[in-house]
Amino acid sequence: MGPPGAGKGTQAVALAARINGAHISTGDIFRENVARQTELGQTAQRYMDAGEYVPDEVTNAMVADRLAQDDARDSFLLDGYPRTLDQVAKLDEILTDLGSTLDGVVALTVVEDELIGRLLERAKVSGRSDDTEDVIRHRQDVYRTETEPLLAVYRDRGLLIEVDGMGTPDEVGKRIADALPA
Ligand code: AMP
Repeated sequence: MGPPGAGKGTQAVALAARINGAHISTGDIFRENVARQTELGQTAQRYMDAGEYVPDEVTNAMVADRLAQDDARDSFLLDGYPRTLDQVAKLDEILTDLGSTLDGVVALTVVEDELIGRLLERAKVSGRSDDTEDVIRHRQDVYRTETEPLLAVYRDRGLLIEVDGMGTPDEVGKRIADALPA
């Protein structure tokens, strides 16, 4: 977990490889569907372009399908999901049905000015339609309102592993590796 620009995607790829698990990024799955102009992609695009979350029913159904696939059976890393309290509840159900559990929730912390700076830099090269300044700022607000409350939920469950997300990707990756249980 972490606000937009915290480096979630970069760290998630590395961490999934380290645990030998399926890397499941809801943002990536939505972007692939947008590129292929599927029905899901057409629904998701409107929300993504506005910096809003895709509705929970749509996102939850997509994650339930993805987690049921073979490559996620032994181990998986969720990147960008859950992002709402409704998604937390649904994920609990999905995992119960699969007989699976979460081992930990890694949250990256980065100060807001740095986030906006990083995202504006990314905007120059990413071509992502949700990397404009207004949308970038709105996505931060949506994160604070909708997703930050999830940190307390996972802290109460004893699963939260907070990691300083400032510095280079390598530095942050090392911090994550050090913070994980052996
Ligand atoms: P990301 O690449 O994780 O920053 O996600 C890009 C966009 O995809 C987000 O701004 C949302 O519009 C959408 N999205 C990704 N994950 C979720 C989620 N768990 N719930 C709702 N919308 C999501």
